[in-house]
Amino acid sequence: MTTGLPRTFLRLIGADRRLHDLDRHQRLIRNQRPFLFTVGFVCLLVLVLSPQAYGQGLFLAGLALTLLSCLPAVLLPWRRFASMMYWLIPLLQFAAIAALRAGGNGYLVGLSLVVVFPVIWLAWFMPRSLAVHIINFTATSFIVILPILLGQGSASFSLEDLAGRAIIPVILTVIGLFAANVSRSIDAQQQELVDKDRQLRLAAAESERRAQLLNTVIETVPVGVVVVDAEGHDMMMNSHQRELHQIGVPREVPDPREDQLLVFGEDKTTPLPAEERPVRRAVKGSSFTHQLIWLGDQRHRRALSVSANSMKDREGSSTGSVIVFSDVTELVEALEVKDEFLQAMSHELRTPLTSILGYIDLVLEEAESLPAAESLCANLQVAERNASRLLQMVTDLLTTAARPALKVREADLAEVVHSSVASARLQADAAGVTLIDGVGPSLRGRFDPDRMHQVVDNLISNAIKYSAAGATVSVDAWHEDRSLHITVTDTGQGISERDQREIFEKFFRTEEARDSAAPGIGLGLNIIKHIVDDHHGSIRVTSEPGRGSTFTVTIPVQ
Ligand code: ADP
Repeated sequence: MTTGLPRTFLRLIGADRRLHDLDRHQRLIRNQRPFLFTVGFVCLLVLVLSPQAYGQGLFLAGLALTLLSCLPAVLLPWRRFASMMYWLIPLLQFAAIAALRAGGNGYLVGLSLVVVFPVIWLAWFMPRSLAVHIINFTATSFIVILPILLGQGSASFSLEDLAGRAIIPVILTVIGLFAANVSRSIDAQQQELVDKDRQLRLAAAESERRAQLLNTVIETVPVGVVVVDAEGHDMMMNSHQRELHQIGVPREVPDPREDQLLVFGEDKTTPLPAEERPVRRAVKGSSFTHQLIWLGDQRHRRALSVSANSMKDREGSSTGSVIVFSDVTELVEALEVKDEFLQAMSHELRTPLTSILGYIDLVLEEAESLPAAESLCANLQVAERNASRLLQMVTDLLTTAARPALKVREADLAEVVHSSVASARLQADAAGVTLIDGVGPSLRGRFDPDRMHQVVDNLISNAIKYSAAGATVSVDAWHEDRSLHITVTDTGQGISERDQREIFEKFFRTEEARDSAAPGIGLGLNIIKHIVDDHHGSIRVTSEPGRGSTFTVTIPVQ
């Protein structure tokens, strides 16, 4: 910061304020101050050292031109004459200097240097104009030569004298060229800054637009959305989520911590342990879908399906998580009613069906002993097959609804597979499918053999059902890494990648299965999945449409 005298001096020559703080018009006015100040200073010197110059017409004309050069910027309407002023003012200044110098009777040789102001002015404001440099050279030469032409100084002047004076226009023209160059590069830099500024503004406007869009989307979707940072602090929460959150707030704790919220597991009554709560899991970095929780006390309880997706930075470290809460109370209640209905219905249907099957067996036995009753036997076998299929469907429905507890004991998986393959042999022969049992003599472990029977039966039955005549179905099982593994591979119709994600859902059947005559209601794989889950195992499928599928079941046996 400059203070006192230096500051007053700077104000006098118009250098106390930064030019880019001013508009173009103010800058133009201010740019004349150095010239005026210098001419004023020279006039003061002349007044002291050579007052007779004030009697010279040329000197006075010079002063008048100096004052005249200040007037356009102040008097003429700036907007209309702006471009003209950039030429007019320096040209008037050139004329003023020429007159002052010629009128100064040789005392003001140094005044030629003042010409640097209009020279720089012209070069600075019109850096791309060649005319400017020609004017600069011509005007400065004229200023230097005018006193000679007027017969001032020595009576005779030599060529050296002329050459000595010619240095000034050359130097000033070079200064003009240099100023034009600096001006051009500053212009380019300014343009770059303007471009960058425009890009920044556009980027800022775009990000604001996106933020608004995101906000509108988040406020419009009929689900609760909360975004937490890596420490678990809320970064954003939509109004739907705020309402849901209120349901979980216990009456006696108005501002509860996450572990104090009324959050229950699927059975609606067991409070969910803190580390199994969706927000805690998400903060720990896990991504998951459809975790079912119950929120709130008995009167206001809501079922929520929660999904979370963790956010990562470029280095892959977690920066937080987006958690979505979807209210599925009506759906879950409807499913419960449906399950109860299915359970009741299938239970009611099983008893008469078992009885029908028993009686068909009795009649079949009697018919087989009758002479020439082949056609009757064949008809009864069809009735028996269909009644058995119906009983299987009803049993499947009952199993899905009830999910009976496992009866784990020491058992042999090889025996289970052999017996399943033997029972499926008839179905395979009828379908023209080759069935291969590749399992060794013994695979012992602790599991529920009846339920595993159901698993292998169902997989083999599906493999045959969804294969055309001529296909091969092979069953394999082995012991590895403290687990039992079973694979059922077929060369049948296969399952598309999209369908593979859904085949374990209740009642799901692929389009091919629905179009084919293969009987089924889409419960078998869902039941298998539950049985395998109850054994803490896993089931996966690899398949290629048109080429076949492999189902692999793994259960730990320790
Ligand atoms: P379904 O009673 O229809 O057989 P599942 O639950 O056993 O019901 O199977 C569900 C669906 O998965 C089937 O409808 C069928 O579309 C498909 N699927 C199951 N196993 C196979 C297989 N081995 N090959 C091709 N598709 C299969």
